[in-house]
Amino acid sequence: MAAPIADILIHGGTLVDGSADPPRNADVVIAGDRILYVGPDAASRYRSRRTVDAAGRIVAPGFIDPHSHPDEFLDPARGDRLVLPWLMQGVTTLVVGVDGGGTPGFGNDVRGFLSEISRRPTGPNVATYVGFGAVRHAVLGDASRGPSAAELERMRALVARGMCDGALGLSTGLFYPPQSFATTEEVIALAREAGTRGGRYDSHLRDESSYSVGLVAAVQEALRIGREAGLPVHIAHIKALGVDVQGLAPRLVDLIDSARRDGLDVTADQYPWDASGTSLEAALVPRWAFDGGRLRMLQRLDAPESRESLRKAMSENLRRRGGAESLLLIAPGEQWSGQRLAVVAARWSIDPVDAAARIMRSRSSDTDAISFNMADDDIDAFMRQPWVVTSTDGSQGHPRMYATFPRKYSRYVLERHVLTLAEFVNRSTGRTAEALGLTHRGFLRAGDYADVVVFDPDRFRPAADYLHPRRLSQGVATLIVNGQIAIDQGRVTRLRAGRPLRGPAGPAGCGGGSIVKG
Ligand SMILES: [Zn+2]
Repeated sequence: MAAPIADILIHGGTLVDGSADPPRNADVVIAGDRILYVGPDAASRYRSRRTVDAAGRIVAPGFIDPHSHPDEFLDPARGDRLVLPWLMQGVTTLVVGVDGGGTPGFGNDVRGFLSEISRRPTGPNVATYVGFGAVRHAVLGDASRGPSAAELERMRALVARGMCDGALGLSTGLFYPPQSFATTEEVIALAREAGTRGGRYDSHLRDESSYSVGLVAAVQEALRIGREAGLPVHIAHIKALGVDVQGLAPRLVDLIDSARRDGLDVTADQYPWDASGTSLEAALVPRWAFDGGRLRMLQRLDAPESRESLRKAMSENLRRRGGAESLLLIAPGEQWSGQRLAVVAARWSIDPVDAAARIMRSRSSDTDAISFNMADDDIDAFMRQPWVVTSTDGSQGHPRMYATFPRKYSRYVLERHVLTLAEFVNRSTGRTAEALGLTHRGFLRAGDYADVVVFDPDRFRPAADYLHPRRLSQGVATLIVNGQIAIDQGRVTRLRAGRPLRGPAGPAGCGGGSIVKG
């Protein structure tokens, strides 16, 4: 009998299959968009149209990024939809709609967003959350008050519709106004709508530092929301940010381990960098100053009744982050871009807080900033947990958009031995798929979708750094998305084989159609 014909045979590589199992030698056979076979001697069992020689290379499931901001690449006017910074890192699936922000370009319209991915495909697969901030903004604008009963109903209906249209769950960014104005109870009421439809609660915590409730209370709040709303909790980009909370990682790990022992499904993601990406205003300006929006905040900077208290709060926030030396400003085109706030202030011969205020006033929107505020011991302690997976949190101005996965591999596997190769792969693929509720992705198993990365263990490296954040990573030899070759011998094919990935909501709880009237 003639051997069955497959499309791609990946031969001779070291297989790391997405579980925590140790690497082994095995071939992978792909037919159509699925994996047909994983095991020895594939060449004697299958004929294939295309053979990929993976000798000396690592063969793994395509990486999954559970927290990303690729908006500029998805923009209908400007984006080429290849999402190249992620492909070059070996990423085959990314998740958007995080931090409560809503879907890129489509806000609360999860259905419209996912249909657009089908109609005009992207390089990687894309999944999304329904965003609390976008929902709240649609009903309450920027107001700092809580919703009336009728307004809460409308918000619940928007979350339910997002779930029924294919969201993975509800995301929040309780640190950011106007989401920061919400009480825990308000969030619980909305999270229930996601939970009853099989969704998850993904949260950029209310406080990753000592800004308001404090880091420990913010983690406790996320756990409480999971318990009372009855859904799994995923903490976005877990960290201990700033001098007041550095060293707290072991305590947070204990807190989360104990919740997990009590039966709550808790996971987190982390980017392997010692600086966070934020904005000048989010880093320094207190929440109350944003009541009514950004223009009101700018007025408050100069108004006699608010000027002094605002200055004081900004100065305290700067201390908390580690001082003006710890903030690197990024604004292409500005002469101070790429410099520390301390340097800019010295050049202008003014106080750093006044320099920050001058920058805010001079620009029509917020300014990106790199904030060096994390301790290596905390980063390592979080990374060692089996429930912490890799994310880029990729956004403009920070090298994590271009270089997260190769950095984690080279720095934390090869150089510092914080993780084994199998742990790194598991927590960038299979474990991530489980934490997101994505099925048939994240593992190299017969029957699953053929999302595969083949990388050279000696060449898989970051090229981007803090001062050159937009350099494409190197070392991915072959990248396969849904059985299609997106990177071939290191070269981008420009094929866009990504698909929209829909969340767990079935017909139950979704009424078989749109449940929102009007
Ligand atoms: Zn975030």
